[in-house]
Amino acid sequence: MKIAILSRNPRLYSTRRLVEAGEQLGHEVDVIDTMHCYMDITSSNPSVRYNGQPLPKYDAVIPRIGASVTFYGTAVVRQFEMMGTYSINESVAISRSRDKLRSLQLMSRKGLGLPKTGFAHHPDKIGDLLKNVGGAPVVIKLLEGTQGIGVVLAESNKTAESIIEAFMGLKANILVQEYIKEAGGADIRCLVVGGKVIAAMKRQGAEGEFRSNLHRGGTASLIRLSPEERRTAVEAAKVMGLNMCGVDILRSNHGPLIMEVNSSPGLEGIEAATGKDVASMIIQHIEKTAFLSNTKTKGK
Ligand code: ADP
Ligand code: GLU
Repeated sequence: MKIAILSRNPRLYSTRRLVEAGEQLGHEVDVIDTMHCYMDITSSNPSVRYNGQPLPKYDAVIPRIGASVTFYGTAVVRQFEMMGTYSINESVAISRSRDKLRSLQLMSRKGLGLPKTGFAHHPDKIGDLLKNVGGAPVVIKLLEGTQGIGVVLAESNKTAESIIEAFMGLKANILVQEYIKEAGGADIRCLVVGGKVIAAMKRQGAEGEFRSNLHRGGTASLIRLSPEERRTAVEAAKVMGLNMCGVDILRSNHGPLIMEVNSSPGLEGIEAATGKDVASMIIQHIEKTAFLSNTKTKGK
């Protein structure tokens, strides 16, 4: 097969590993810089141009679209879909997953376990917003944050109110969430590919840190999932319409709660923690599905 990896940087671990795995399995793999693609979007014969030439016809693309380039990146993926190229994650599903609120609302509608969550922009009654999610301690999140930045734990209602007031001053959208203390500063990253959890790791925050992000000094280790956790992760991927994603789960005393679904999950942490060749499993999934005309939306 001819596979394109849409990535801004061929040196990134995940990109390198996907190239390596694809080539080892006998495929031709190109890394295409998403932001350097351009196209005539009105042409009746859709194509993508790159470096002065039309790109060849690929059998499959693997989008690795960073959060900051979602808008342009998903447009490029959509163009590939219009050309009939299979994308492991479709543009609509990537856009959906990038909107935290939309994602939580969709998963809530399907009855998936979520931390009790409030959403606000400029609440007149902050006390009521807090009461609605059970009161302090609460976790307050900036909707636009990634890698744990803009995620704050407020131990008392007073602290929570001042933080919310400060965020309001920034005209930010805010999420207020019940604090899952029993998770103990850890979360579980499940890597779902083709409707199955193919690898899972536990991420533990550094001493005294409730955020488990590896970027914030967290450490990863192998973990065994309960059947309920496995089901929850698979169901979350399905609701989001993602064939490949990272589902982050908190272990609460009322079952697994989904925090987030990531459509460009990093491979470095999970391959190191589990010793699994995740990159090859992703390529093997593409081998099984790319020719089945599995592109549901064709960019529609
Ligand atoms: P980001 O998307 O920026 O990584 P998250 O919402 O995933 O932000 O939060 C970062 C980390 O903070 C999570 O990985 C988790 O360890 C911790 N965390 C987030 N929300 C809660 C919560 N409601 N209860 C307990 N811990 C939480
Ligand atoms: N972008 C990384 C991922 O989705 C974040 C990892 C982390 O900070 O924990 O895998």
